[in-house]
Amino acid sequence: MTSKETHDMIVIGAGPGGYVAAIKAAQNGKKVALVEKNYLGGTCLNVGCIPSKALLAGSGLVKKIQKAKEFGINISEITIDYSKMHARKDKVVSQIRTSLQGLLKANKIDVIEGSAAFTGAHTIKVTGKISQILKAPSIIIACGSEPTNVPIFPCDHKLILNSTSILELKTLPTSLCIVGGGYIGCEFASLFSSLGVKVTIVEALDSIIEAQGATLSKALNAAFKKEGIEIKTGAQVERIEKNKDSVTLHIKDGTTITADLALVSVGRKINTKSLDLDKAGLAPNKMGAIEVNAQMETNTPGVYAIGDVTGISMLAHVASHQGIVAATNAIGGNASMRYEAIPAVIFTHPEIASVGLTKEQAEKRGFKINIGKFPFMALGKSIASSETEGFTEIISDKETDAILGAHIIGAHAASLIGQMALAINNELTLDCVVETIHAHPTLSEGWLEGSLLAKGEPIHFPPR
Ligand SMILES: Cc1cc2nc3c(=O)[nH]c(=O)nc-3n(C[C@H](O)[C@H](O)[C@H](O)COP(=O)(O)OP(=O)(O)OC[C@H]3O[C@@H](n4cnc5c(N)ncnc54)[C@H](O)[C@@H]3O)c2cc1C
Repeated sequence: MTSKETHDMIVIGAGPGGYVAAIKAAQNGKKVALVEKNYLGGTCLNVGCIPSKALLAGSGLVKKIQKAKEFGINISEITIDYSKMHARKDKVVSQIRTSLQGLLKANKIDVIEGSAAFTGAHTIKVTGKISQILKAPSIIIACGSEPTNVPIFPCDHKLILNSTSILELKTLPTSLCIVGGGYIGCEFASLFSSLGVKVTIVEALDSIIEAQGATLSKALNAAFKKEGIEIKTGAQVERIEKNKDSVTLHIKDGTTITADLALVSVGRKINTKSLDLDKAGLAPNKMGAIEVNAQMETNTPGVYAIGDVTGISMLAHVASHQGIVAATNAIGGNASMRYEAIPAVIFTHPEIASVGLTKEQAEKRGFKINIGKFPFMALGKSIASSETEGFTEIISDKETDAILGAHIIGAHAASLIGQMALAINNELTLDCVVETIHAHPTLSEGWLEGSLLAKGEPIHFPPR
């Protein structure tokens, strides 16, 4: 740090990308400024991962209680007090935000409230309660993203909501129409349907959660239909008419859907507009994202970008990992991002998780593949817990037995995918899984059985 520099590093945005990068640099003795214009924790903690999962934990409990009778437990009636669920969600968020504040303080990070914009490649102007100029040799941009507003049906946050405003509902609607069947739309569909709301999903593509591949998409489609969620695919919403207490969605094929509320979840807009990137010699690409290399460096030396703002993979854990890579490089280390083993989870009921290649992607890359698909129905633990819906699926390279992809739908999928992320990240083969002793009875045996099936040597499944 020279005499004119205020810090060794400035991080813009305190989401899971930015605050993790700041901690990494501070732990290495660097003087770090973390600038945040809203709340510590960013989208993830305040209007994304955490509040949605706090609510989904409640709807998951409802689904468990509905099964109580099967276990010989009689519960007379389930009534939902959604305002209390909402209040619990707020409590969870504020508890984690307070811990984060303490963590940043313990790491001696200067948390600066305000909106940051570049005035030069290494100079930032912060506009806030106290406006100030900061200067540092390393700057990490971690400004994240926000819900896309569709000009032909803009959100009024009363009848037409987005993923942020729907989290502020304190009473349940009778019906909800969700525009967009990506993972965010599907999580909200699951949440509200489990609480008794009539849910319809309208998706322009041919299937919901298309990015997860055909197998998982079909499986979720079937589970949602069984649950009573209506799904209209290949359907483009042309406009949303606002009635007194409802909305009517007009679809391109001439049909209409009327519901109490509409949720628009059609993608995310990257936050670069207010940054004055040009002053740092940067320009966003066509998608609005800041381009980076594997070291998370932008075209301007000393300036890094991480998380949603890079448009690479809009997931909190990717943002955090990119934050570690950027901070390591900024303080003189040598780290690179690899994207082969990014676990992706959808917290629907049932949960979905995947890592590595889908069947379609593996085939497109020219691999000859084996598939081991093992139903939870055939696992002792699943039957004992009455959680038999779903399957594990392992995709391996026919020539080398290397594990290329792993997919799962069913109970505890989110936690179970960790084992396969470790396997794919370390380029393990089917034998590495088969030779690992899996505890019995557990759901992780699904991976063992899936690997045996991919090898053509099933134990708890009839031979092919
Ligand atoms: C409903 C929902 C559910 C989700 N669920 C999951 C999930 O289960 N798992 C998962 O991995 N991901 C999930 N995500 C995605 C996840 O939230 C994002 O990928 C993640 O938050 C990105 O982290 P980030 O650090 O890049 O940006 P963000 O978390 O968006 O943080 C960026 C921060 O920068 C601040 N900022 C922006 N511009 C400026 C400026 N000029 N000056 C100062 N500060 C600025 C913003 O206020 C914000 O706090 C979900 C998202 C949504 C919307």
